[in-house]
Amino acid sequence: MQFKDIVGQRDTINRLTSIIDSGRVSHAQMLLGEVPTVMPLAWAYLQYLCCEHRQHYESGDLRADSCGECPSCKKIASLMHPDLHFIFPTATTSKVKEKPWSGEFQGEFRDFMLDRQGHGDIDDWYDALGIENKQGLIRELDADGVVSDLSLKAYEGGWRMTVVWMAEKMNESFANKLLKTLEEPLPGTLIMLVCESDERLLPTIKSRVQTIRVTGHNSKDKEENAEFAEMLVGWLRMLFKLKMKELSAQVDKMAGLNREQLKLFLQSAQKVMRDCFLNSAAGVACHLGSGDEKFDAQFPKMITVNNIALIEEALDDAIFAVERNAYAKIAMMELSFRLSKALKKK
Ligand SMILES: [Zn+2]
Repeated sequence: MQFKDIVGQRDTINRLTSIIDSGRVSHAQMLLGEVPTVMPLAWAYLQYLCCEHRQHYESGDLRADSCGECPSCKKIASLMHPDLHFIFPTATTSKVKEKPWSGEFQGEFRDFMLDRQGHGDIDDWYDALGIENKQGLIRELDADGVVSDLSLKAYEGGWRMTVVWMAEKMNESFANKLLKTLEEPLPGTLIMLVCESDERLLPTIKSRVQTIRVTGHNSKDKEENAEFAEMLVGWLRMLFKLKMKELSAQVDKMAGLNREQLKLFLQSAQKVMRDCFLNSAAGVACHLGSGDEKFDAQFPKMITVNNIALIEEALDDAIFAVERNAYAKIAMMELSFRLSKALKKK
């Protein structure tokens, strides 16, 4: 995971790389914010920390990034680095019928992370784990895992890192054992808590970790907005005359976004549709910014009281499908057909 693959968050990223560049890396850190946003940052941060050829840039919005090419980068990107461990909430499953802990599910968790590139949330993880309605926890057994992982000699001679994903799910016995590790850190070790809410964490833990708050996704990110607008206009144009080959290529492009980005893209489409409807109803021009004045002038007129509800519903369903991890290509193809039909009902 490189920082360049993360949408937005440039200020946070520049702060994270400057912590590493200045050599002020604390042995205990917490990235606090929505986990699907925070985890990719934590991942890219550890990759940057271990990178053998860190890149620094003179221009652009990123000041630095990992190289993505060195052996260390490759191992962290594929989550195969021998000194990188994960602790996360677990419960009993059909495979592990008693004493569940993270050590039993490393393969499942790695697949879950790789599939979603860190963007999965706790419900997605419980689905992947198949624990049905049980609540996952991080327990004492997990703490024993942390201690043994961190006390080993580093295979690669660098940092030994443990990420505690959804740290708010730790129970009291885990918290007490973690506290001991935080009080007497071993040199060269790093514990990274990835956490949505620190309310349930012991104050003594909070006071011993360096906390970096990550606010929600910055949807005002200019580059992303421009990219979305271009993609949106290209797609909308195709909905009037469905040519399967072109539509399929466009759908591939949209489905190639990661889940979080696709959701944002669909939300931005929803906003554009609403604006078109409100503006055309009020007789005001709507600026789609397609670079084609004729299209900009004509398209909003297609969104009327006769189809706005159908359009909203189709987009809602697609957002829901993306959230539920449906196959993005099928969801976007279905959405294209529904929108195309709705637009004809102007
Ligand atoms: Zn590298």
